[in-house]
Amino acid sequence: MVPIPLGPDDSCLDFVNTRYWRGRTAPTETLGGMQEALDWCAGPGRAPPAAVAALARLWQAAPEGEMAARAAAHGSLIALREALFRLLAAAAGGQGAAAADLAVFNRALGEAAPRRRLAEAGDAYAWDLDPATASVAAVLSPVLWSAADLLAGRRRGHLRQCANPECRWMFLDDSKSGNRRWCTMSACGNRAKARRHYLKVKAEKEVLF
Ligand SMILES: [Zn+2]
Repeated sequence: MVPIPLGPDDSCLDFVNTRYWRGRTAPTETLGGMQEALDWCAGPGRAPPAAVAALARLWQAAPEGEMAARAAAHGSLIALREALFRLLAAAAGGQGAAAADLAVFNRALGEAAPRRRLAEAGDAYAWDLDPATASVAAVLSPVLWSAADLLAGRRRGHLRQCANPECRWMFLDDSKSGNRRWCTMSACGNRAKARRHYLKVKAEKEVLF
């Protein structure tokens, strides 16, 4: 058995935000290759270590002639991330899911490690998983659970997407007022304020001159 600690319940947001500045012509991609993806998955509470190791072994063992198989594993991980991003963005915007995206997500969720047993781990609990199979879905099991729990749970109403059209970062708004619009004030909120200030001053100047 492989006990893994419960990850942060918003690890699905960390996952979709591995691609950011999504509104720009060239978004920033941090999972450009399978090694980057495996390194990300190996972060605390994100994936059963045995599953990451199994997938890494399978990926590294692929002979040169099977580069297509390697690319397919990375491609399916990215396709899953993008389907999940669209599902979460639609939910944040109060819209329904595209059937194709929900199908991609549900297929992966069906292949994720089953949550059958809890084990005590120090003063907390951990999921007690069977040794994982080497698959993208097994590696991403905690991320998939996080997404399913978020979409089906009460906090779905807290799901937001940054209002900066260049940014589009996904986050949970746990503020008291519940009207947070920016991922962070420093990255996007202040920029929007500065832009409004610039436009206001420009408009006033145009009136004067
Ligand atoms: Zn932002």
